[in-house]
Amino acid sequence: MFNSLSDRLQGTFDKLRGKGRLTEDDINSAMREIRMALLEADVNYRVVKTFVSACKEKCMTSEVLDSLTPAQNVVMIVLDQLTKLLGSTESKLVLAQNRTPNVIMLVGLQGSGKTTAAAKLAYLLKGQGHSPLLAACDTHRPAAADQLQTLGNEISVPVFRGDGKDAVAVARDSIQEAVDHLNDIVIVDTAGRLQVDEEMMQEAVDIKSAVKPDQILMVVDAMTGQDIVNVVREFAERVDFDGVIMSKLDGDARGGGALSVREVTGKPIKFVSMGEKPDSLEVFHPDRMAKRILGMGDVYGIIEQAQKVADEKQVEDAERMLLEGFTMDDYLGQLQQIRKMGGLQKMIGMLPGGERMLQQAGNQADESQLTKVESIIRSMTKEERKKPKKINGQRRKRIAAGSGHTVQDVNQVLKQWDQMNKMMGKMRQMTQVSPKGKKKG
Ligand code: GDP
Repeated sequence: MFNSLSDRLQGTFDKLRGKGRLTEDDINSAMREIRMALLEADVNYRVVKTFVSACKEKCMTSEVLDSLTPAQNVVMIVLDQLTKLLGSTESKLVLAQNRTPNVIMLVGLQGSGKTTAAAKLAYLLKGQGHSPLLAACDTHRPAAADQLQTLGNEISVPVFRGDGKDAVAVARDSIQEAVDHLNDIVIVDTAGRLQVDEEMMQEAVDIKSAVKPDQILMVVDAMTGQDIVNVVREFAERVDFDGVIMSKLDGDARGGGALSVREVTGKPIKFVSMGEKPDSLEVFHPDRMAKRILGMGDVYGIIEQAQKVADEKQVEDAERMLLEGFTMDDYLGQLQQIRKMGGLQKMIGMLPGGERMLQQAGNQADESQLTKVESIIRSMTKEERKKPKKINGQRRKRIAAGSGHTVQDVNQVLKQWDQMNKMMGKMRQMTQVSPKGKKKG
């Protein structure tokens, strides 16, 4: 996502960092590069123009030109503008307190990811303690209701299909269904077309007036580029909606649509979808996204991911590791943790400079390496996992054969374990915990 834009912008900043003081010419040429980078990312022309002129005005001040670290100032100015462009602050999904069920309606073109997004949103809300119902109101595409049903089954969320013919009736009846089954939110999936057409718009308007949604979200495919802006505008005029779900940001979208939509239509991006799995819908944070585009990493994102999967047992485990040392089972646990957090690639992508690192490595953060280490550890006996130092040459051979890898691979895992164990020892010293359990002092 945003890879080439990110790369170009960071390249421009690298050039600036190579200079001491900056002249007006330096800033002009940096702004030209930023302009080209945004245009090539398919950002709307007007948006680019306003963006670059705002950046330029802020950069051409004595504060920047006389600064001892001018490149840093320029980066911060661009970051600030980029955050504004993406909407400044998080735009929350607003649910009515005094209405049950709340109704969320999804609209958008066919193939934009609406049905998938409906299920993902249900999954996210379920995780927050809600009890959602999915309403299959895309009655035009025959497979749509089945698709929603399959997704609903996967995440254990009920799907209401009604008679499967009249979209407005299905939507209306889904409200009663929710009342009867104590569902506090109905998510209405509507029909899309390949292009905007009158019948689709009218149907969306009719469903809207039948169920009076608390929130209407438009699902927008990030791969579409700035062309999508016109479609979004039409939906805004006819149906009106509260915010955007930007889908398929995990692909190699250049980013133009995502960067243009807020400025051109005034509609905020509320969620972004980064994959096909149910848990790949995330609340959109403009500041974090801007930082990622500029290669500054999304530290809050990492913490959030970690909190999502952390439980009491892990806190206990961490304490035990400090007290008793780091075993191979702990190592295995750590690897599983990384998987739960969305895999290596996702985690590295959130680190400062991480997207760039991934690109340089051909976008292949080696997930197979995780599997390899796991299978090697699983081929060790209980005793060996507890006391890896006892694993001699003979045992290494056996483990290699058992896991289907080489002795060198086994050696490498042991070496990595050793390094982590040493690190744990250092942390133990820092926290002044003695290995046999009691805190010093
Ligand atoms: P609809 O016609 O708008 O309901 O679109 P669908 O929900 O059927 O999605 C169209 C295709 O896009 C499906 O193959 C989805 O699996 C895929 N898709 C949807 N969202 C995402 C996403 O965020 N990332 C990726 N990679 N694929 C997605």
